[in-house]
Amino acid sequence: MHKVDVVITEVGPRDGLQNTKNFMPTAAKKAWISAEAAAGVRAIEVCSFVPAKLIPQFIDAEEVLAHANSVAGLTAVVLVPNFKGCERALASGARRVMVPISVSEAHSMSNVRKTTTQAIEEFARMVELVRAQPPGQRAQLVGACSTAFGCSLQGAVAEDDVLRVALALRAAGADAITLADTVGYANPEQVKRMFSRVYKAIGADFAVEAHFHNTRGLGLANALAAYEAGVRHFDSTLGGLGGCPFAPGASGNVVTEDLVFMFEAMGVSTGIDLGKLIAVRQTAFAALPDAELYGHISKAGLPKGFEPSAQAA
Ligand code: ZN
Repeated sequence: MHKVDVVITEVGPRDGLQNTKNFMPTAAKKAWISAEAAAGVRAIEVCSFVPAKLIPQFIDAEEVLAHANSVAGLTAVVLVPNFKGCERALASGARRVMVPISVSEAHSMSNVRKTTTQAIEEFARMVELVRAQPPGQRAQLVGACSTAFGCSLQGAVAEDDVLRVALALRAAGADAITLADTVGYANPEQVKRMFSRVYKAIGADFAVEAHFHNTRGLGLANALAAYEAGVRHFDSTLGGLGGCPFAPGASGNVVTEDLVFMFEAMGVSTGIDLGKLIAVRQTAFAALPDAELYGHISKAGLPKGFEPSAQAA
């Protein structure tokens, strides 16, 4: 496999489906994951280990993860909201586990009924759980600082708070950190400043990843700002799936196809075959006829004579 300049994690099967009103059949989820992997996507967030009574979409989490783990060359990522979810995920063979920690206290209380400090303490217990796994089989734990650029409940989120939470997660034993613009409030200047501050405090060698939503149309601009600040891991969703149920008409995550196009056009290798990726839209979304989809490159087509940065392996 070729080395890539940036790693793009498709988070549609988790972040996207979390907000769709219809259940996507398990077979369709598996086909989607396989098709994106075949297009060269190396990491996919495939499900969330939340109680099925809270989000019925993830009732098949174990089965979907088992499928993703069987796809050669693919890193399957799962999200867990708490310690119990983490136990379940690890027992189901999760190798990379994303744990969201709200920097905004208001968001943390309303989402998981814990203060940010309590959530960080719980994260530290998850680290112990992972460290008790046999060496060589240890899962990676990623601390995701959600609402890192603003919160729809609290409003502005102080950058010092983001830095404090990021450093606390690192100190607790996180393998990587994500700064997430959960509600789409970020702007490029803020993104550049925030990531630069985190890198300065945490060290440029440590993986700090970016998760942007395109709610207010700044998703790609924010991704570019993060790239310029040194970020090399980005989350996005095919078709921008994942509109917020509380903001009707607002688009969801950054569109994977558009993000890949931006990087490839800039000569930054993603390892992803753009033509194949765009074709996945048909396969994936036939099973979700009511879903609102977004994206420019899939509608406009590739520019005449377009050359990707380097051929996918
Ligand atoms: Zn998100």
